[in-house]
Amino acid sequence: MDTMLAAVYHGPEDLRVEEVPVPAIGADDVLLRVLRANICGTDLRILHGGHRMYPAGTVRIPGHEVVGEVVAAGERVRGYRVGQRLFVAPNMGQGDSRETISGNNNLDPNFEAIGITMDGAFAQYMRVPAAAIRQGNLMPVAEGVDPAVAALTEPLACVWRGQQKVNVSAGDVVLVMGAGPIGVLHVMLARLRGATQIIVSEPAAGRRMQALALGADQVVDPLNEDLAAVVRAGSNGRGADVIITAAPVKALQEQALDLAAMGGRINFFGGLSKSDSVIQFNSNTVHYKELIVTGTTACSTYDCLRAAEIVNSGRLDLSPLITASFPLTSANTAFAAAADGKNLRVTLIP
Ligand SMILES: [Zn+2]
Repeated sequence: MDTMLAAVYHGPEDLRVEEVPVPAIGADDVLLRVLRANICGTDLRILHGGHRMYPAGTVRIPGHEVVGEVVAAGERVRGYRVGQRLFVAPNMGQGDSRETISGNNNLDPNFEAIGITMDGAFAQYMRVPAAAIRQGNLMPVAEGVDPAVAALTEPLACVWRGQQKVNVSAGDVVLVMGAGPIGVLHVMLARLRGATQIIVSEPAAGRRMQALALGADQVVDPLNEDLAAVVRAGSNGRGADVIITAAPVKALQEQALDLAAMGGRINFFGGLSKSDSVIQFNSNTVHYKELIVTGTTACSTYDCLRAAEIVNSGRLDLSPLITASFPLTSANTAFAAAADGKNLRVTLIP
């Protein structure tokens, strides 16, 4: 076992499936055989050359939504056995930074992340570095949970973080703007947390149908229907208690303030393009409605732990989100499928 297949980023739109050395591990590292690695929007941004951690000249294996099984552990590693199936939380903070100490290693300005700042999961094998093991990033996957589904723990963790921040609670009317994979995860988690009316706004008809099938109470085409009227009707006229923008669209953020109830909580969950992220809003709307407007980005290891517990519990069936799978050798086809606007999550099988 000297070489392995990997999908290696060589530059914008240049992803090559090639033979590379199997990563060497140190005394404090673990080597995983990758079982499934899912392709998300971040990976698409990497492929298009738009990720700040993949500057010009970067040659790296992406992939950060991963489940693997232990094939080897360094001699100082304790607590893992060969064959054990593990989900890997991707983000590592510096152990002594204020952000990491506070449980927010995703906010550490010097964060490291698997598949982002170091080689990741679009490969047959992956090294898990000592820092990740020390910080608790390896999480057992329950018997019977499909590894591609368990790899959804990472996006679910981002969504869990987002909903904690705006405290999605029993009885809430929740408006989710955008019904891509993240929007759908928001719908499913909001349901689990007890939201009583979940409205989804999404221009693509196929996406609306998916959202309805996966737990939305109501779907709206914002281009051809009066979203504000639907939200009023679904909330006894008060507006949405919680609004989550799950698409990179400025207008959604501006509109959210008007659609919120008195005391409404808004999460700008989906980031905007960095060249076009200045929005306009009436500050008095925030003032007189006492709105809480926040954002969340990525997920901490603790968020992953909570999400892993949800996935392992079987209380949320995420399997409908895996809509296509491809062998690693077809990585480019898989990336195209992930970008087609119809799939929710595409998984790679090394
Ligand atoms: Zn991701």
